[in-house]
Amino acid sequence: MFTRVTSRSSRTPQLRTRAAVLAAGLGASVVLGAGVAAAANTVTATTTATAATSGVASAVEAQAAAQAKAAAKVAAANAKAKAAAKAAAANSKKAAQRAAAKKAASWTRPVKSYRLSASYAQAGGMWQSTHSGQDFAVPTGTRVVAAHGGTVVKAGGNGAGDGPAYGNAVVIKHGNGTFSQYAHLARVDVKVGQIVATGQRIALSGNTGNSSGPHLHFEIRTTANYGTAINPVAFLRAKGVTL
Ligand SMILES: [Zn+2]
Repeated sequence: MFTRVTSRSSRTPQLRTRAAVLAAGLGASVVLGAGVAAAANTVTATTTATAATSGVASAVEAQAAAQAKAAAKVAAANAKAKAAAKAAAANSKKAAQRAAAKKAASWTRPVKSYRLSASYAQAGGMWQSTHSGQDFAVPTGTRVVAAHGGTVVKAGGNGAGDGPAYGNAVVIKHGNGTFSQYAHLARVDVKVGQIVATGQRIALSGNTGNSSGPHLHFEIRTTANYGTAINPVAFLRAKGVTL
């Protein structure tokens, strides 16, 4: 709605207002056209309208600049948020990798390349009751490593004190109330009291004791002695080791 006014004093603000409204909605070029059309009646009006238009033009310019500035600000904020999200994702991925690496580094397989043969708690003529460990079928002379860092508490023949069935054996005490045992060894490379690191070579595999063929017999025990074994495969897998 537009009410025509003749007073010069009130005309200018009205044009200004109208032009500014148009400017906001349609853009500067349309405002200039409308301003010229409205001002075509009289010379006075034209002058006024021109003045108003130039005023609007600078207002539009300022507004455009402000909008561009605001848009740039928003774009910068978006880019920043995007970068932050990316960095956060990268950080959490890195943290997960670090955690996985740490978990894997803390325990490892006793032999690198093997075939899982007789499993834990398996029944059979070879054992008094059931199998007390996990067998890793490997050729004689395969490098056997400490599955976790600790102190050697048993090492030598006669199952290192656990009986002739084990042949040459090693038992390592770990800091978390568990022990690992390695049996049927061809050669023992550590001594009682020796501190070993995760993955350090402790022996070479063999076929000594009550063994049906070359393999490493591996146990996880809750004490240093025979009869306290738990499932070593489940134990290692729970530590993040792939078997
Ligand atoms: Zn075995």
